Amino acid sequence: MAKLKSGALVVQKFGGTSLASPDRIKMVAAHVVGEKKQDKHVIVVVSAMGDTTDKLFELATTVSPTPPKRELDMLLTAGERISMALLSMAISDLGYEAISFTGSQSGIVTDTSHTRAKILDVRAHRVGEELKKGRIVIVAGFQGVSPAKEVTTLGRGGSDTTCVALAAAFDAEECDIFTDVDGIYTADPRLVPGAKKIDIISYDEMLELSFCGAEVLHWRSVEVARRFGVRVHVRSSFRKEMGTIVTAREEIETAGIRGITHDSNLVRISVRDVGDAAGVAERMLEALEGADIGVRFFQISASSIGKGIISMMLQRDQKEPALGRISEVLPDADLDTDEGIATISVVGHGLCSKPGIAKKILASLASLDLQPEMISTSGITMTIAVKETEAVRAIQKLHTDLGLDKPEGAKSA
Ligand code: ASP
Ligand code: MG
Repeated sequence: MAKLKSGALVVQKFGGTSLASPDRIKMVAAHVVGEKKQDKHVIVVVSAMGDTTDKLFELATTVSPTPPKRELDMLLTAGERISMALLSMAISDLGYEAISFTGSQSGIVTDTSHTRAKILDVRAHRVGEELKKGRIVIVAGFQGVSPAKEVTTLGRGGSDTTCVALAAAFDAEECDIFTDVDGIYTADPRLVPGAKKIDIISYDEMLELSFCGAEVLHWRSVEVARRFGVRVHVRSSFRKEMGTIVTAREEIETAGIRGITHDSNLVRISVRDVGDAAGVAERMLEALEGADIGVRFFQISASSIGKGIISMMLQRDQKEPALGRISEVLPDADLDTDEGIATISVVGHGLCSKPGIAKKILASLASLDLQPEMISTSGITMTIAVKETEAVRAIQKLHTDLGLDKPEGAKSA
């Protein structure tokens, strides 16, 4: 990639809320011009305006209940194309030169998995050339092109990943993700009034939080940031204050509990009374893997002699395809589904370095008389499955008991 003078490049992403109306687009244009005036090269990655992507999705399903994924990608990418062109117009109206590019024009090369493609390479030569000409370059987020020249999308929230990937390609030390919240919080502030903004968080912690339900950053963007060492600054489009810095663990002094997140978009599928439960589970996992259906957790427990129960948790929108696949492998199975389950995940480097924390989490849940449906720990995360109706109470209690409502950095609990 053509190198630009270091420190002279900013890469910024603006989310859908920040671009939701013509007035907001003009505000973003003014902000971007402000950066340009400081003699910087500017790349701006945009999301679709407001809830455009949801609307396009709805539109697709009214025409066809199961739209072909290729066509869905053709449709959904239109959202970002609208905002990129409008932002470019608003910038040129302020007397500055801008040019907008689709993902394909920007050289975002992905694999072929429509609706959740992975970036393979960034060949942003055109972006580089335009920057050198002094133009502000606006890139449609969330989209790319496969080697077979098919248009792809990166999965919901994927414009964060476009932003980080471009920052990595141009060797930028940092990128800004402008969004409608002030940063990453110790828990969802809508559920936990005492939640605090986190000033600095490691890539690993952020990856776990994003993966286990936090929606502020797309988890793949964190993966790319970690791989290429790009610092990510998540901040509000509407305020000047610092948000949250996502960076290498070495930059962070405290190792405690960083935050709690939850996921209620899950379904649990269980099979009862199976003999050779381990063998059957293996076949089920293989079948799901073959259909590209990810299993978040699974458990085998003994029920009666020689028989067992297999339960697996997966994303709710994968329920039908998963049931279909499992019935192919186990035509006579007694399948049970439960959508009333949520997972709560407690994340922080302190979890593996301080064993007392796990005990504290269990004690905190026990004090609520709450029966966890499942617990799994790995590295810096402890995930507890509970009845969805109990989730908020549990998160609030854990947040207090782990000391996350106190003002200073990560908690040692
Ligand atoms: N517009 C897409 C979505 O809503 C991508 C993004 O916002 O990052 O998921
Ligand atoms: Mg969006």
